[in-house]
Amino acid sequence: MDREYLRKELQRIDGKGYPAYKDIRGRYDFSAFTLFIDSVQGDPFAAPSRLRVRIPQSVAGYPSHTYRNRSRRVGLENYLLHSFCRALRKAGRPRGSGKSGLMQADQPGQEMLERTAMSVNDEYVEAQFMIGLPAQGRRISGSIAARMLCDELPNVVEGSLIHRNNDSALITRYCAVSEDADFLRTALPGKGLVAFVADGSVLPRISGIDERPLRDGRVVKWRSPEEIRVSFNLPNAGRVSGTGIAAGVTLVVGGGFHGKSTLLEALKRGVYNHRPGDGRELVITIPRAVEIRAEDGRRVSGVNISPFINNLPFGEDTSAFSTENASGSTSQAANIMEALEMKASLLFIDEDTAATNFMIRDRRMQALISKEGEPITPFIDRVQEMYTFYGVSTILVMGGSGDYFDVADRVIGMDVYRPRDLTKQARRLAAEFRTERRREIKEQCGPLIPRIPLPESIDPKKGKKEVSVKIRDHTHIQFGTEVIDLSAIGQLIDTGQTRAIGDALWYAKKHYIDGKATISEVLDKVMRDIEREGLAVLSRRPGPDYASFRHFELGSALNRLRSLHVRRG
Ligand code: ADP
Ligand code: MG
Repeated sequence: MDREYLRKELQRIDGKGYPAYKDIRGRYDFSAFTLFIDSVQGDPFAAPSRLRVRIPQSVAGYPSHTYRNRSRRVGLENYLLHSFCRALRKAGRPRGSGKSGLMQADQPGQEMLERTAMSVNDEYVEAQFMIGLPAQGRRISGSIAARMLCDELPNVVEGSLIHRNNDSALITRYCAVSEDADFLRTALPGKGLVAFVADGSVLPRISGIDERPLRDGRVVKWRSPEEIRVSFNLPNAGRVSGTGIAAGVTLVVGGGFHGKSTLLEALKRGVYNHRPGDGRELVITIPRAVEIRAEDGRRVSGVNISPFINNLPFGEDTSAFSTENASGSTSQAANIMEALEMKASLLFIDEDTAATNFMIRDRRMQALISKEGEPITPFIDRVQEMYTFYGVSTILVMGGSGDYFDVADRVIGMDVYRPRDLTKQARRLAAEFRTERRREIKEQCGPLIPRIPLPESIDPKKGKKEVSVKIRDHTHIQFGTEVIDLSAIGQLIDTGQTRAIGDALWYAKKHYIDGKATISEVLDKVMRDIEREGLAVLSRRPGPDYASFRHFELGSALNRLRSLHVRRG
């Protein structure tokens, strides 16, 4: 079947009832590429139909250096997806009832993730997209459909996916930026670093809801203090220099509105690569870095929070702590211990989103409320142990308490968006103005206790449906009858990740949650399957729009499932 066959078919069903569109499912040879019509919507108002185009490399023409390793391939795929989305958007327009006339693909953001919507290999370029098959009311507009699929689509493909019609200098840049970022991330531990911010980086964003770089005359580009400056030789950009943040405890201080949170936000997204022009292309952190917040109201299932919380009223056991409604401090403790269970090696904490009583208790409060009446061992008394005992570094934004000078290995001060190394001054002040507070440690942190999720507590069933997993929005997954709230997962940054994680929960339950495997083992197994077979392995249907995610975000979703029950491993 070829393009003319499809055109005739569409003309044949013109004016018929919408279900006749089902006849066009299948595969069509368009000579320059193959069109796959994978699924056809049931009516003009339903989720649009899903299609793919596959262009052989003999036509697409991408030189192998643009995809010869994973880093470069992901760079190229992100470039192509931007280009494809732009061309589709231009071609699509309302042409009838409901979603008639819509043409779109999964839009990437500032981060360059792997996405099922675009894949490039030695044989072909494949792009996945959606079309609103056109109708007037519920009658098929066959001629319009023929124009969309047989004339406009080939133009979109020709203009946006063929190498010679694309900007090859920009493609090279996407590949290079992605490769350099991955190179840097791998090179950090060799220098004892957990993060790097290159000179010239632009950290601030347009707004709290727009991740594009702030472009404003007043943007202050990053310039490293000399004391903590390091350099790297990158495969493409050559020698770059900037701030190296060493393993251990790093404190970020400074006046309000001086750029502390902006720095932490950039670092926390440094586990991902950024597209050229983003400003954070060379703001890089190690992969096992996790943002920690207070998240009152969350559910907690059998987590050992005893390093931080003991002697709760009514004598609850905090070495396997469960609650339907965590407080600010218990939720933050659980978030930390769960991150450790998933083998985090760097924590980000911002005072803006932390529970004050979890972070500090000063001398006066210690005098007023005796240790016996206070279940919390504040983070200040554990942060060094986090590093020496568990090997977990912390980067902490704290403009509100100088008590932390006593426990920080490094103090970075933000002064009108300019970083300074204030370690020496902070040490001197710590000696000069003693806080007189007592460390509140009775016992060392114990070993981590692994948890085993119980299969019967994870149920995707809803009504008559055996499996019902839906994404409400970027931070809410409906799993069976319950809704998982992911709004406190700061490094979940893309709806494509949320879609993949929703299905990964079902996948994990189906294949690996057996009442024997620990949470950490289950996560490893799911990630290994994705690594081997690609993200689409998670899907129950053809053509899902997924974006790559980390095991931390998957585990965080599992940990927030309200029905979850665990036993000790
Ligand atoms: P803090 O956490 O220190 O109170 P923020 O990081 O929230 O401050 O930054 C305050 C404001 O300054 C934000 O609107 C942010 O976009 C802006 N900003 C941050 N860094 C820069 C910079 N390097 N240049 C210009 N504006 C910036
Ligand atoms: Mg702040």
